[in-house]
Amino acid sequence: MKREHGDWDFQTLDLMPEPKKVKTKGEFTTCILPPPLDPNKPTLVLDMDNTLIHAREGKATLRLFSGKVVPLERYMVAKRPGVDEFLRDMAKLYEIVVFTAAMQYYADKILDKLDPEGLITHRLYRDSCVSCDGGETMIKDLSRLGRDLKRVVIVDDNPHSFSLQPRNGIPIPAFKNRKGRKYSHLKDIGFFLETFAKAEDLTRALDIAKTKRYRKICKIF
Ligand SMILES: [Mg+2]
Repeated sequence: MKREHGDWDFQTLDLMPEPKKVKTKGEFTTCILPPPLDPNKPTLVLDMDNTLIHAREGKATLRLFSGKVVPLERYMVAKRPGVDEFLRDMAKLYEIVVFTAAMQYYADKILDKLDPEGLITHRLYRDSCVSCDGGETMIKDLSRLGRDLKRVVIVDDNPHSFSLQPRNGIPIPAFKNRKGRKYSHLKDIGFFLETFAKAEDLTRALDIAKTKRYRKICKIF
């Protein structure tokens, strides 16, 4: 029988405290992604935390040779059920971009483990988000990707992330790895994305999937 919840033993991460911020030059004026490797493929943007994985924070320490004790951030990470299959299937049809509001030092540790085959083409981190409400809300502005927005879909458990381009978004219920909860959403989303991978206008397909008539068939809204 297939598990409906993930394992906690996918990865235990011990991270050094957040590195000092590197100064960045003002606002982005150009695209945040390089040109597509395959212009025929649409772009699938995936959030990481609570969409692909769930990480639970704990505390740990590291004793150095000098005797000094350094605090570490410890994370228990669980993969969303079906995530490996989803990434493998989608990579055949889409350019996959993970766009996370998390810091790079944390996200890279997780993505290196999650994607050993290199199915994810690009990774975007907090420094590519637009911050609103004094940093309270992080928005992923898809217009900065340098892709045709008709051929871009974002899957994110936080709909605020795609509030600038709501027609491109599929909100996925947050994966918290709670026992007894079903987390089979990637299956329905994968089926939809497979069906419409060749569509000229994915936003139009998403508009239709939202209508009362098609909600029950598509099962993604
Ligand atoms: Mg999230």
